[in-house]
Amino acid sequence: MKNLIGMKKTELEALMGELGEAKFRAAQLYKWVYSPVDSIDDMTNIPKVLKEKIKEHYFYRHITAEHILMDEKDGTKKFLFRLEDGNLIESVLMNYSYGSTICISSQVGCRMGCKFCASTIDGLVRNLSAGEMTDQIMAVEKSEKIRISNIVIMGSGEPFDNFDEIVRFIELANDSEALNKGQRHITISTCGLVPEIYKLADMNLQVNLSVSLHAPTDILRKELMPVGNKYKLDELLKACKYYTEKTNRKITFEYAMIKNVNDSREMADKLAYIIMDIKNAMVNLIPVNPIEESSFEKSDRNSIYEFNGYLISKGVNSTVRRKLGSDINAACGQLRRGYTES
Ligand code: SAH
Repeated sequence: MKNLIGMKKTELEALMGELGEAKFRAAQLYKWVYSPVDSIDDMTNIPKVLKEKIKEHYFYRHITAEHILMDEKDGTKKFLFRLEDGNLIESVLMNYSYGSTICISSQVGCRMGCKFCASTIDGLVRNLSAGEMTDQIMAVEKSEKIRISNIVIMGSGEPFDNFDEIVRFIELANDSEALNKGQRHITISTCGLVPEIYKLADMNLQVNLSVSLHAPTDILRKELMPVGNKYKLDELLKACKYYTEKTNRKITFEYAMIKNVNDSREMADKLAYIIMDIKNAMVNLIPVNPIEESSFEKSDRNSIYEFNGYLISKGVNSTVRRKLGSDINAACGQLRRGYTES
């Protein structure tokens, strides 16, 4: 048995063909699959006999919110979803003046091993399917009765370690008959898997790329992020340059500020230097969210603003990220861990 959520229109057309049905039934079904209904029985213009035939091989079920937490200060909401197989994932809904943004997960767990990140502590459990990624958005839109304008794939998991499903997800998210979200409103965040950056660039999509840099030297980056052993900074930055030149989209470098680790003037100077010739580059400074499993501390407010000011003085388009949702463990796998362990 397979969930209809995640299927493409062409696949439903093939299915209708196999069942000896007219092609327009696929178009009807496709619209239902990505609309806020609860079951196949709710798909009113599909004949009962056809519904029964579909049900022999397919089901239609949304992921379920096991828990919703709200940050009273900024209205950020964190959804803990239970998947078909019992695994838990999280999505975060943030409200900005320009619309709402959802941060979705791409894997259960992660195998990238970044030292400051809670999602990777127990390793990778499994990839999420495109349907499970799509459904995080559908389920939140339904529960909140809103239309989400921006999607960031920045929750648990490394999207480029699940490349094919990410591409399928983008298709579904972007299709006007499915989720209907503009590609320019979708951002993929990667820890820096170089071959996949090239692969995505060559697909000529219009999605934004965000690269988790966190260190301006190979020595430090390797300490913080094991992926730094596989791809050197200059290889990574070359790929980033290619991405912006090929797609003309902006690229954001994420930089988690860790006290006495990567927050000195010297580090800011190196950072400004290494990204100098990437056009449309932006830097996003985020105070690291301390996790129990590591001893990293947040940089002081002052050092963050100094670091930011220095980058700006060097001509870098740098901002300090408004910190949303830290009251509710909205950072990177923290809720799921707290939940599965208690
Ligand atoms: N694997 C992808 C996307 C998921 S992580 C990536 O690495 O980009 C999303 C972002 O949160 C990344 O920039 C990641 O480095 C950052 N992050 C992880 N743990 C964090 C923490 N404890 N504090 C601040 N940022 C963190």
